[in-house]
Amino acid sequence: METIQADVAIIGAGGAGLRAAIALAEADPKLKIALISKVYPMRSHTCAAEGGAAGVIKADDSLEHHFNDTVGGGDWLCDQDAVEYLVQEAPKELIRLEHWGCPWSREPNGSVAVRPFGGMKKQRTWFAADKSGFHILHTLFQTSLQFPSINRFDEYYATELIVDDGRCRGLTAIEMRSGQMRQIQARAVIIAGGGAGRIFPFTTNGAIKTGDGMALAYRAGVPLKDMEFVQYHPTGLPSTGTLLTEACRGEGGVLLNKNGRRFLQDYGMGPETPLGKPVFKTMELGPRDRVSQAFWHEQKKGNMVPTQWGDAMLLDMRHLGEKTINERLPLVRDMSISYMGVDPVTDPVPVRPVAHYMMGGIHTDIRAATRLAGLFAAGECACVSINGANRLGSNSLTELLVFGRRAGLSAMEYLQSGPNAGSDAATGALANAAQARVRALFQRSGGKESVVGLRKEMMQTMEQHAGIYRTGEGLGAACDKLAELRRRYARVELQDKTNVYNTDLLQALELGSMLDCAQAVAASAAARRESRGAHQRLDFPSRDDKNYLKHSLAYYNRAEVPRMDYCDVVITKSQPGVRDYSGGHE
Ligand SMILES: Cc1cc2nc3c(=O)[nH]c(=O)nc-3n(C[C@H](O)[C@H](O)[C@H](O)COP(=O)(O)OP(=O)(O)OC[C@H]3O[C@@H](n4cnc5c(N)ncnc54)[C@H](O)[C@@H]3O)c2cc1C
Repeated sequence: METIQADVAIIGAGGAGLRAAIALAEADPKLKIALISKVYPMRSHTCAAEGGAAGVIKADDSLEHHFNDTVGGGDWLCDQDAVEYLVQEAPKELIRLEHWGCPWSREPNGSVAVRPFGGMKKQRTWFAADKSGFHILHTLFQTSLQFPSINRFDEYYATELIVDDGRCRGLTAIEMRSGQMRQIQARAVIIAGGGAGRIFPFTTNGAIKTGDGMALAYRAGVPLKDMEFVQYHPTGLPSTGTLLTEACRGEGGVLLNKNGRRFLQDYGMGPETPLGKPVFKTMELGPRDRVSQAFWHEQKKGNMVPTQWGDAMLLDMRHLGEKTINERLPLVRDMSISYMGVDPVTDPVPVRPVAHYMMGGIHTDIRAATRLAGLFAAGECACVSINGANRLGSNSLTELLVFGRRAGLSAMEYLQSGPNAGSDAATGALANAAQARVRALFQRSGGKESVVGLRKEMMQTMEQHAGIYRTGEGLGAACDKLAELRRRYARVELQDKTNVYNTDLLQALELGSMLDCAQAVAASAAARRESRGAHQRLDFPSRDDKNYLKHSLAYYNRAEVPRMDYCDVVITKSQPGVRDYSGGHE
C-alpha cells in the first residue's frame, strides 16, 4: 500500500479544516500538512451557510453580552471557559478574514454591518449578504493556496484512524479516483469532518454530512459528547428541507399561523411589535429550540397551514420591500421561487422546522484535544463545548475559525513536545487490517440488505422517535431498531464491485458512520431524563440541574448499544438561571 508521510493530517477541508491548516502553515512553514477531503474543499457544507458569523464589534455590545447570550441560549450546558475563549477570539478572527479578503456587507458609512440573530440580544452577526458561508470558505480556500506546505488530497475518503501504543499516528483513506487505499502516516491528526444531519430524512444538511469524522474518533475509543442535542431550524422549505436563513427574521420577517397570528407571542416570546423597521424584538428572534417547539404545539392545535408536503407556518417578508430583499436576502428570494414557486416580495413563504445542526460531537477539551494522544478535533464534528444544549445561530461559523485555529496550534504544540515516533511496521500492519476490512465488503454475496433500504429505515426511526419532542418509550424503540439495523448492516452487499469512483462503496461506508452516530444520539437521549434546550422529553418536561447539569459521553461498543458516562460542565461565572426571552432585543 502506498504510504504518504505528513507531520499533521487534517480530515476535512471545510471552514474548520482549512482554518486549522492555515494556522499550522503560518506557525511553522516547515511542517508538512496533509489536508484530506472526500469532496473538493469548496463543496464542503460551510459553503451553504447563509446568515453570518457572530463577533462583538459595535460600541453598544460587549464580550460579556455575547458570553451571556451564548451560555443562556445553551441552557447552561456550555463549558464557560470555552465560551469565554470563543467570544474573546471571535472579533479578531472576523477581522483577520476581512484582511484575507472576505467581502463583509457594509453600513452606508463603510463600517462592517451586523444583523440581529436568534437568541442574540445585541446585533453582532457579521454577514456577506445571505451567502456568508460561501464567502468565508472561499476566503479561507484562497488563503490556503499560498502555503506550499499544505498538500491537498481532494476526493480521498478517510476510513479509519491508525492508533498504536496509545497514540493516533495517521489514518487510512481511499483515493476515490482509483479506488486504492493509502496509508497517511502522521504524527498528529485533526478531525474536522463536519456534522451528521443526514441521519434525519428532512434536513438542511448537504449529502456529505454523514458523521464520518465523529465515527472515526468514536470507533477509536474517543467518546461522543452531548449527542442527544440535535438542533431543528424553524424555517426550512417544506418541499426540500432547504434552509431559509434566520437572517430572514433578523431583517424583520415574521412567522404567522393559518389565522395570520404571530403565534410566538403565545409561547413566552412576546410582546408583539409593529411591523416595519426596526423590528429587533424577541418574538421571531427567539432561540431556535423554542421557536421549533412552538411550531410543534401549534401543529397539535391545528393552527398550521396545510401544504402538499405537510403542515407549515408562513414566513412573511413582504413588508421588507423588494429593495431590501434583493440587497440582503437575494439567495432566499431565488430559492423560494425555485423550490416553492413563491416570491417573498409578493407572498408569505411556507416553512417548517428541519434538522439542522449537531450540538454534540467528539469530546475535546478547550484546546481542541481529545483524550487520545495526537488526536484533535474542531468544527461541527467536535463538542468543545460552546453550544451546550442549543446553539445560537451564527456561533458555528465563528467556532470553526476560533477552534479550527486552536486545533492547529495545539497539534503543533503536541509535535513540539516530542511524541515518540512509533513503529512503521506496527502502523503498516494496522493499515493493512483496515484495507482488509474494506475489501471484505466486496466479498459479501447473497445478502438481502441494501444501503438504500437500511438508510431509509434509520432516517424514519430518527424522525419518529428522536425529533423535536421525545419520550422514553419512543427512544427505547429507536435504540432497539438501530441495534437491529446495525446487525443487518453487517450483511449489506455491494452492487458495484469496481474500483473507480465506487459511490456504492462510499455510501455503504457512510451508512456505517451514520448508524454509529444515530445510536449515540438515541442512547444519549434515552439516558437524559430531563428537558433542556433542544432535548425535550414529554415524560420529563422540566430541566433537572440536580441530576443532569452534566455532559453525556457515549462510548463505542462494538456488539451492543453505546456505554454511557458523564462529565462535569465547566461553570466560571454564570450560574444556571431561567431562560427569559419575553423582553426585547436592542
Ligand atoms: C444550510 C446551512 C446554513 C448554515 N448557516 C449558518 C450560518 O449562517 N451561521 C453559522 O454560524 N452556522 C451556519 N450553519 C452551520 C455551519 O455552516 C456548519 O456547522 C459548519 O459550516 C460546519 O463546518 P465544518 O468545517 O465543521 O464542516 P464542513 O464544512 O461540513 O466540512 C466537512 C469536511 O469534512 C470532509 N469529510 C467528511 N468526512 C470525510 C471522510 N470520511 N474523509 C475525508 N473527508 C471527509 C468533507 O469533505 C468536508 O471537507 C449552517 C449550516 C447549514 C447546513
